[in-house]
Amino acid sequence: MFDTLSDRLAGVFANLRGKGRLSPADVDATAREIRIALLEADVALPVVRTFVAAIKQRATGADISQALNPAQQVIKIVNEELVAILGGETRRLTFAKTGPTVIMLAGLQGSGKTTLAGKLALWLRNSGHTPLLVACDLQRPNAVTQLEVVGQQAGAAVFAPEPGNGVGDPVAVARAGVDRAIDAHHDVVIVDTAGRLGVDAEMMAQAAAIRDAVQPDETLFVLDAMIGQDAVTTAEAFASGVGFTGVVLTKLDGDARGGAALSVRQITGVPIMFASTGEKLGDFDVFHPDRMASRILGMGDVLSLIEQAEQVFEADQAEEMAAKLAGNDFTLEDFLQQMMMIRRMGPIGGLLGMLPGAGQMKDALAQVDDRDIDRTAAIIQSMTPEERRNPGILNASRRKRIANGSGSTVAQVNSLVERFGEARKMMTAMAGRFGL
Ligand code: GDP
Repeated sequence: MFDTLSDRLAGVFANLRGKGRLSPADVDATAREIRIALLEADVALPVVRTFVAAIKQRATGADISQALNPAQQVIKIVNEELVAILGGETRRLTFAKTGPTVIMLAGLQGSGKTTLAGKLALWLRNSGHTPLLVACDLQRPNAVTQLEVVGQQAGAAVFAPEPGNGVGDPVAVARAGVDRAIDAHHDVVIVDTAGRLGVDAEMMAQAAAIRDAVQPDETLFVLDAMIGQDAVTTAEAFASGVGFTGVVLTKLDGDARGGAALSVRQITGVPIMFASTGEKLGDFDVFHPDRMASRILGMGDVLSLIEQAEQVFEADQAEEMAAKLAGNDFTLEDFLQQMMMIRRMGPIGGLLGMLPGAGQMKDALAQVDDRDIDRTAAIIQSMTPEERRNPGILNASRRKRIANGSGSTVAQVNSLVERFGEARKMMTAMAGRFGL
């Protein structure tokens, strides 16, 4: 979905790699590239402006972290700003305190409303609710039958006007649907409404009349993420015509540029609550701004890694370590220090899982057992400073002495020295990859 944007942003970050600090010219160039990336992804201009201004200001600001290099800092800032324009916190459904919770769906024809009704019903059923679907789209041929089909798939009851009565009054159907829910003890009512291919006054008036009749606890505006720049005008029309409390983005599985997803929250001020990613009822989930942002950045969980690194590494330590890695004079003493730091960051398995393409590294480090660290510390502490700096001088008699001194075996000393060699190679490779 966000491939073009992801690729563009990756290019921006790559240009910053290896830079010691960001000059004002670097910040300008970066801001310009980010602006182009967003515009190409169809993000609405006012949103692009705010976004780029925030990036610029923060990348120049004094609050930038000492623990991260420029590329990492920009990734971090872009990520945080993406999360912010996507709405920050995850917004969940509000349920009525008394009586059934009424959820009304509004949006253009083809935006995925009826499909969404089924998805939502299934999702609600899976969390213990007993939804009733109400068919108020009496305009589109087959809309009622389609709702009955998805209702059946979702295992949810459907309230619809009698067949042959398809030109009835959707407001009356909506009202009767809520009454039925009360009688039959459904705790949620999902009201599917009619859409048109374009925004028109009659449709808005009908949706507003249904809204007034059923007083929904949530009105969800269903937005096809593939409609590009039109998303903004459509969202604005629904905001003023019917009003809504949440947005559902559909067709996020498509290969469109995704600007709608990035613009709608800021344009309307209403949070995105759910995301649909396919035609099947299960292709649906709560929308999490933070997860979407890291998906856009295409960085696996490198972001969490950056966050953790920031917490654990002192700035000086990080710089010193970076210099050592670059100069290739990483010693056993540093190795010990690194192992201790890594250990503070959590179990090694989990840490490695966060690195994209960590496959081979995983194998190399799999041998580093968390419990091994204490023994490793003892072995390194039994070495002379000269041996720690230059493990090449560790001949058989030195290794024997170290083993005795640390209460370990010569095989364990050998294994440590070997692992150190591998770790050194790997860290140099990692330093290159992440621009540390
Ligand atoms: P409505 O007119 O708003 O009720 O829209 P429908 O629910 O009938 O959906 C229109 C078309 O979009 C149907 O063919 C759906 O299968 C399809 N659709 C709905 N949601 C998604 C989605 O998230 N991804 C994809 N690929 N297709 C979807």
